Amino acid sequence: MIKKFIRKILGVKDGRNPTEPVTLGVEQHGIDLKLLSPNAIRLTQTLQEAGFKAFVVGGAVRDLLLGVKPKDFDIATDATPEQVKKLFRRAFIIGRRFQIVHVMFGQELLEVTTFRGAGSANAPKDEHGRVLRDNNFGPQHEDAARRDFTINAMYYDPATQTVLDYHGGIEDIRDKTLRIIGVPEARYREDPVRMLRVVRFAAKLGFTIEPTTRAPIPVMAPLIDNVPAARVFDEMLKLLLSGHALACLKELRSAGLHHGLLPLLDVVLEQPIGMKFVTLALESTDGRVKAGKGVSPGFLFASLLWHQVLEKWTAYRAAGESPIPALHLAADDVLETQTENLALQRRIATDMRDIWAMQPRFERRQGKAPYKLLENPRFRAGYDFLLLRCASGELDAEIGEWWTAFYEAESGERERLLTQANARPAAGEKKKRAPRRGPRHRNAEGTAAAAAGSGGAEE
Ligand code: ATP
Ligand code: MG
Repeated sequence: MIKKFIRKILGVKDGRNPTEPVTLGVEQHGIDLKLLSPNAIRLTQTLQEAGFKAFVVGGAVRDLLLGVKPKDFDIATDATPEQVKKLFRRAFIIGRRFQIVHVMFGQELLEVTTFRGAGSANAPKDEHGRVLRDNNFGPQHEDAARRDFTINAMYYDPATQTVLDYHGGIEDIRDKTLRIIGVPEARYREDPVRMLRVVRFAAKLGFTIEPTTRAPIPVMAPLIDNVPAARVFDEMLKLLLSGHALACLKELRSAGLHHGLLPLLDVVLEQPIGMKFVTLALESTDGRVKAGKGVSPGFLFASLLWHQVLEKWTAYRAAGESPIPALHLAADDVLETQTENLALQRRIATDMRDIWAMQPRFERRQGKAPYKLLENPRFRAGYDFLLLRCASGELDAEIGEWWTAFYEAESGERERLLTQANARPAAGEKKKRAPRRGPRHRNAEGTAAAAAGSGGAEE
């Protein structure tokens, strides 16, 4: 509070006025033009030549200032969507809540947004104060004030190579600080998703959340329940696919946000065995994202929910179902509750089911079965999932090693591996393994204590 007060005073002393930006030249901001997409330069130039203002804005400017190549470019302009559309051959007006224009250059999509006006005081809201629709255009300084964090509210003009900073974003970038614009409580009330965004940016950028920005979060977290599930899901997906998912989850917990936010996180984060599995899954996801490899949301959610599936699978089997139908019933149950809560898209749910359903098939190492499994188009995902189960201690490491060998082997070698698997009594077939590997086996059924589950984790 005191800090904020001092900042305010200083702001006034500096002559900072939220309607007048600080203008920074290249020697002050140091943005490297080479990090810009040529299409972003072309687009702003075309708008400017037609007499409009046009800037690169938001996350792209933040990333440029951090010396990171932005993954996409948003453009802000004072041209209306109709005026923008007329200037480009492949431009499409989209969105009902607030119209934006998608401009395509080859494969690249750029999003062009007309400056939004303040006016949210009059905008329609739900009974908790969440803004439902907000369609008015306005001057640039109002557009800046409506953005979420100071570091996301800067404008870059490639033509003059200047940055316009209305809210002290430059200082916050230098201090590695995430600061919400305006009164934090009011901004979270307008849009509770901002609480998730601040956590994601803090984890992704390694920034500190400024204390008054952070303080209201645990208290206001329940407001997220009123946000449409699809929007929360989109934001969660961004968080999980940020390359910093593990850090994000830790941050979510420390900000007091994980409760009630996602049912799956409640369950998973509070179970030691589940936590081990999820930690490994997220580490591997983060590794893939950082290495620029693709990540499948289906695989990710299949991992996050696996321990719920395991639990139900065990219950159905205990009730007398045979293993495969029991697994499908368990998957149905879990997917049903999660599609309600999470708006899991059907495509993702299908991938998840495929990955789960494949798991018992890895335990059948006789005859043609393993060859058939290898031919399954989803084999790789199922196999990676199996390896996670081994690494978390849920399954014997041997079965994962065997599949790795089988997967990589020449055809003659595969026959030998099959013979070997069948000669070995405890080769992973459940019936045979049970007596020898009591605790592990119970754990594989999802009922054993956490302690038994971490055996193979360091592989
Ligand atoms: P990322 O790197 O994840 O894309 P980003 O900052 O670009 O980060 P976007 O969701 O692409 O995030 O949004 C672009 C810009 O729009 C933000 O930088 C911010 O200025 C503004 N913005 C996005 N979401 C909100 C929100 N919920 N409230 C206020 N402003 C927002
Ligand atoms: Mg963005």
